[in-house]
Amino acid sequence: MEREVTGMRTVDIIKAKRDGRALSKDELRYFIGGFTKGEIPDYQVSALLMAVYFNGMNAEETAALTLAMADSGDRVDLSAIGGTKVDKHSTGGVGDKTTLVIAPIAAACGIKVAKMSGRGLGHTGGTIDKLESIPGLRTSIEREEFLDIVNRVGLCVIGQSGDLAPADKKLYALRDVTATVDSVPLIAASIMSKKIAAGSDRILLDVKTGSGSFMKTVEQAKALAEVMVSIGKHNNRRTMALITNMDAPLGNAVGNSLEVAEAVDTLKGKGPADLTEVCLLLASHMLYLADTGPMDRCEALAREALASGAALKCLIKMVEAQGGDPAYIEDTGKFAKAKYCRPVKATRSGYIVSTDTERCGVASALLGAGRAKKEDAIDYSAGILLQYKNGDYVKEGEPLALMFADKENLFDAAAFELANALKIGGEPPARAEILLGRVEG
Ligand code: URA
Repeated sequence: MEREVTGMRTVDIIKAKRDGRALSKDELRYFIGGFTKGEIPDYQVSALLMAVYFNGMNAEETAALTLAMADSGDRVDLSAIGGTKVDKHSTGGVGDKTTLVIAPIAAACGIKVAKMSGRGLGHTGGTIDKLESIPGLRTSIEREEFLDIVNRVGLCVIGQSGDLAPADKKLYALRDVTATVDSVPLIAASIMSKKIAAGSDRILLDVKTGSGSFMKTVEQAKALAEVMVSIGKHNNRRTMALITNMDAPLGNAVGNSLEVAEAVDTLKGKGPADLTEVCLLLASHMLYLADTGPMDRCEALAREALASGAALKCLIKMVEAQGGDPAYIEDTGKFAKAKYCRPVKATRSGYIVSTDTERCGVASALLGAGRAKKEDAIDYSAGILLQYKNGDYVKEGEPLALMFADKENLFDAAAFELANALKIGGEPPARAEILLGRVEG
């Protein structure tokens, strides 16, 4: 990308944002263009990210940042794929393996899902890391092949490879390690730049709220949802956001291959109730956005795709098409197991009254399932299997959670996080609702 404005100095842009001034479209294009080309170093970008974190961005700035990021590479033309293309993106949570379930459900119902997903960010996991735990599976796929897989199989999930929103790929990795993830304009621009570059006609956003999400309150989640839906609308994409509960990890598994196994169980109709419920909710909304019919029909179709095994077959086909070994989906017992397993035990009897879900995500990362630095390798078999969730009764001494890791010295710090995350009390908490709001353009 050519520099559109000359005579700008990166340090002046950082200073302007530090001092609370709104940045112009040209300044944002200069900054994003320079960073993408490697001309602006990480330390200056980190400083700008922190200034945005503290001073925010108005709606025009956020929209301009989004487009600068979407245009930092190519936009995919999906017109070679017939039918309505629906994309879905979560703002991030703990144990959030919904893409692995709902994309196959949607594809089994005839929707084309051409999806670009991310890696783990902050305390949250990423779909690409989960998929890469399947031996052989490629998430970096050239455009022609990507389009071909979507056409043949109905779905393909790739990472931010090649020239699709490369600015987001670089910013994402930097935000992950500079504590600048939980910012409305940065999340909105990150997600919507990818969605715009990836070319789908319709976009479903799953905006998570609660202790395991970046938006801790429903009000914050609603504000983020409104910004993203408005950006979608102004870019001629029919966009809808659901605000869903992330006050406990989704399902019981946290960690890459553990989550793939749980997603497969869910596709076999044997998944945890909360995960199954949220997946059916999201999948029905994807079908609804694709004009499949009224919501009750979409729900019935989504249930049928699960019950008949059609959705599971779609996942198997996708894994195969992306070079992965489908035997791991047919039998998830084949995934390599962590060398060590250690329980975290309940220190008293009672009900699990609340979960600090972010701490569960941190515990999983400490066990090796996430990154502390952007170049860190991931241990795909590391993670947690929760044995009790909010509302369950546990007896003193029983294991609250099982931890998995390849090094024994990782357990103490993770156990500390988990023991403090799961609060036990005398009375059961009120049942938590899954769907907490809906924002439509
Ligand atoms: N998902 C993204 O793609 N980006 C964010 O910033 C947060 C979640």
